[in-house]
Formats: sequence, C-alpha cells, structure tokens
Amino acid sequence: MKPIVKVQDLDLYYSEFHALKKVSLDVKERSITAFIGPSGCGKSTLLRTLNRMNDMTPGVKIKGSVSIGGYEIYSKQVDVETLRKKIGMVFQQPNPFPKSIYDNITYGPKIHGIRKKNELDDIVEKSLRGAALWEEVKDYLKRSAFSLSGGQQQRLCIARALAVNPDILLMDEATSALDPISTLKIEELVQELKHNYTIIMVTHNMHQAARVSDDTAFFLNGEVVEFDETKELFSAPEDKRTEDYISGRFG
Ligand code: ADP
Repeated sequence: MKPIVKVQDLDLYYSEFHALKKVSLDVKERSITAFIGPSGCGKSTLLRTLNRMNDMTPGVKIKGSVSIGGYEIYSKQVDVETLRKKIGMVFQQPNPFPKSIYDNITYGPKIHGIRKKNELDDIVEKSLRGAALWEEVKDYLKRSAFSLSGGQQQRLCIARALAVNPDILLMDEATSALDPISTLKIEELVQELKHNYTIIMVTHNMHQAARVSDDTAFFLNGEVVEFDETKELFSAPEDKRTEDYISGRFG
C-alpha cells in the first residue's frame, strides 16, 4: 500500500517548548494508523499538524516536511480550506452544531456550493449510512442533533465529516467520552470506513489500537519511539520503552 501522508524530520515548537522532535512516519492509504503513548507526548499535536489546525495557535513554529497526496502542505501555494476539505476531523467530545440532524450534514456541502435539495438529500443519506447511523435516524432527520445519545452524536460528527468527501479522517480520542457499547460501534465503523478512507486515530487506549489499527506509532516526550505494523509493535517491540509501555509499566 502506498503512503498518502509522509512526515519527515518534523519539529514543532509551542514558543520555546519543543513538542515534536524529528518525527518521521508514513501513513498508508486506506488503512488505520494509531498514535499511542502517555498523555502530553505529542500525539494530538501531530494530528493537528496534518490538517494545519496548529496554524491557529499563536507561537507555533514548524520545521521539516509534511506531504499529503504528494503535496507539501506547509508550502505557500497550499490553500488551507481545500486541504481541510480533504481531511475530516472528529474530536473527543461529540460536537454537533445546534441544528437538526439533516442540517448538520448539509452544512459543509452547502458551504462548498451544493444547493439542490435532491443532491443534499442524497449526501445526507449516503453520509449517515457511511457512519452507520441512517437506520436509527432516517425518520427523525429534522430533530435536533442534541436529541441523540452521545454515541449517536459522535457517529453524526463522523457523518458530517464524510459529507464533504474527505480522503483522510483524523480521530482525536474519538471514543474516550463514550460508553463501551458506543465505543465498540465506532470501532466497527472505523474498520468499515478504512475501505474508502485513510484513518489516523489518537487513542490513550492501547487495547483499542491493538484491536483496530493496522499500524501503530508509539510516542514519548515528543518523539516517535517506534512505528510499525500493529501486530509487530505489540508482539515484538524493538525498543525497551515501547515494551515497558505496552506491558503497562508506565503511562
Ligand atoms: P497528547 O496528545 O499526547 O496528550 P499533546 O499533543 O496534546 O499531547 O501535547 C504535547 C505537549 O505540548 C504537552 O506538553 C502539552 O502541554 C503541549 N501543548 C499542547 N498544546 C499546546 C499549546 N496550544 N500551547 C502550548 N503547549 C501546548
């Protein structure tokens, strides 16, 4: 499988604080890559670097290379809005808009100029099906998104991300606020989504990474200590620090 994301020698500073140190990794297309490691080691920072969300944080300095689909995303020619359209993101807390289920999904497509009702209807159905939510909500599309359970809201946020047809889905601890059954549903959903999308997930739950992902990167103090196929990393870690972490000796 060819890489869709290539990170090379990436350093990121929050003012003086060196948050990512010479990070290099390739993310394969249509696969699930997990970032694991103790809290504060740079997982979310790297995730936010991939859709240039860190641009909005004052004092951030970046050195090194991040290319997505062959384009250097920090070059001056890159249009950040177009980049973000290609890269959806789902956060820890479900964050639907205070709008109906239908309007949550159509929000992005409308911004991108889609107006026809039949086209929007199709996008709503396709996105909700893609997020395994259609059967549960198809008769209630005009209801507020807040009428849904937490797990359903998170699947709605995934559907909202899918509605603008991204290539990559970034998930930042997307199940950590959910109950075990909703978590399992999202894990199953992610396995389905990888047939059409590239998924990169931050998780503090290494069992989740082991269950769900194809590749895993283990982070510590801003460095990627080890990056490998998930089954290799968990069964035969090369670095003592990875071994200590996955066997529960710290973190
Ligand atoms: P993780 O996702 O592994 O928990 P983060 O990427 O959120 O870690 O954070 C990595 C480090 O960068 C932490 O020490 C954190 O305090 C720091 N950090 C994160 N965001 C900011 C910010 N906006 N300003 C300054 N420091 C930050």
